[in-house]
Amino acid sequence: MKRLSLPISLALLVACLTITALPVAAQDRIEEWRGRTVLVFTPHPDDDLFGAGGTLALLARNGNKIYIIIYTNDNKGSFDLEMTSERLARIRKAEEESAMGLLGIPKENIFWMGYDDGELEYAEPKALCGRAARYIRQYRPDVVFSIDPGEWYDRWHKTDHRMAAFNTADAIRAAEFHLYYPEHLLVDGLKPWKVPLMMFYYAESEANYHVDISEVIDLKAQAVSRHVSQFEPSINKYRPDWDPQTLPKFLEGIKARATKKDGRYVESFRRATGFNSR
Ligand SMILES: [Zn+2]
Repeated sequence: MKRLSLPISLALLVACLTITALPVAAQDRIEEWRGRTVLVFTPHPDDDLFGAGGTLALLARNGNKIYIIIYTNDNKGSFDLEMTSERLARIRKAEEESAMGLLGIPKENIFWMGYDDGELEYAEPKALCGRAARYIRQYRPDVVFSIDPGEWYDRWHKTDHRMAAFNTADAIRAAEFHLYYPEHLLVDGLKPWKVPLMMFYYAESEANYHVDISEVIDLKAQAVSRHVSQFEPSINKYRPDWDPQTLPKFLEGIKARATKKDGRYVESFRRATGFNSR
């Protein structure tokens, strides 16, 4: 027994040293998480999927609780002259619920702030930040996924992306200090919450964290296809489904355009911690 115990002890020692030598990020890969709470903020009902859908599918599969907050109802983006905003909002809601359902996120976990598409910048700023901070204090997430506040749309015209990004960052900061929106605590008993980790999607140029989504890339492509009204031909003249001959080509196109790294499908994020103490 003694002869056996020495190599085993050495092996354990080596294993322990190896683990402690790894950087924090390597020890706590988000795609390995189980039983955690994940909060996702998205300007439109599809950016969450395009930016982080594969990662969310992995997190859902691992039994994490995922809640999605959607700023706008996406009720403007159609070229169909017979489409109305009210109808488009209903269509986009159903498409988002269908897509997220495919990833394992039930519609009960999707919350709609209901702002009009393209008009988030006109929302009353203090109320907008307070609403987002309230979700953070209510769900106390281990991670917040959000559109990155520093990417190309910041210099372009994508108002909802710009505003959702800045507002979520502001809400994360507000949520940790009880004197911001004190009524959350005083009236509703929602305590302050410091978000320990942020994962910013659409962070192409500053991405520092890549999740291998190869296992779920087909699922993600299928989920994207549920947003029928966002793509031709439905965006031009609405139809609720795909031509069976077009769909396989569309799915292949989604995979072909997906980000790849070292031969694997990945989603790239700017991972940030300690955001608020700066
Ligand atoms: Zn968008």
